[in-house]
Amino acid sequence: MSSFASSCSSAWSVAVLQQHAFRQAGTLGVTNQSALAVADNATIGALGLHAKDVRQGGSVAVRNWLRAWPVYRQLTGLDPWGRGKAVVSPEYATFAPRTATADRVVHSVCPYCAVGCAQNVYVKDERVVQIEGNPDSPISRGRLCPKGSASKQLVTGDHRARKVLYRPPFGTEWQELDLDAAMDMVADRMLDARRKGWQETDEHGNPLHRTLGIASLGGATLDNEENYLIKKLFTALGAVQIENQARI
Ligand code: SF4
Repeated sequence: MSSFASSCSSAWSVAVLQQHAFRQAGTLGVTNQSALAVADNATIGALGLHAKDVRQGGSVAVRNWLRAWPVYRQLTGLDPWGRGKAVVSPEYATFAPRTATADRVVHSVCPYCAVGCAQNVYVKDERVVQIEGNPDSPISRGRLCPKGSASKQLVTGDHRARKVLYRPPFGTEWQELDLDAAMDMVADRMLDARRKGWQETDEHGNPLHRTLGIASLGGATLDNEENYLIKKLFTALGAVQIENQARI
């Protein structure tokens, strides 16, 4: 028999002996504390320990060792199925969820689709450490689909684009731009296109006050508030072609 098989067999024997000792203790009507002693003695015997050694001070160490053993805790505690405290190791007991150690929680909306499930974004040391569903949301009530559940990777993953890339007309290479310069370029082009496409009146002289030079096509990741602001901005600029592909 291999040492692993031997060890498993011996562990199983110990468990059986402990159960036997508890049954005996129950039959005799002894207290729980006495039952523990009977169980310990049965286990000590099964492990081949000498009673003399135990009497000379080894019993406390052996009992502590036994009580740290998940099978022992499972058989003698309140977790008979071994799904809770019985199987918690000392190392595991020191763990805490990232949601419990975060400095603050920021409410957000899943960026992926038009369902707009609400998210709690957990931040520690100014870094996103976890993203979970927000149970206060009337839309999703704390749930996220697999895609939304993985959105922390979208924020923190190495593949995330963190710089604006610009390829000028007829250029063959991308250039890096800082965000302020990129925003200025977008604003300049938008105003220029608006001016070039401006229509003051139609062919009959009726007022139009609109531009066909710019348009907006939103995506499913835009939430209600973003769509509201986009519609307001583009309408104020005189655009009439304002759409969103999402229909939820
Ligand atoms: S991608 Fe999933 S989690 Fe995100 S809004 Fe859509 S359904 Fe909700």
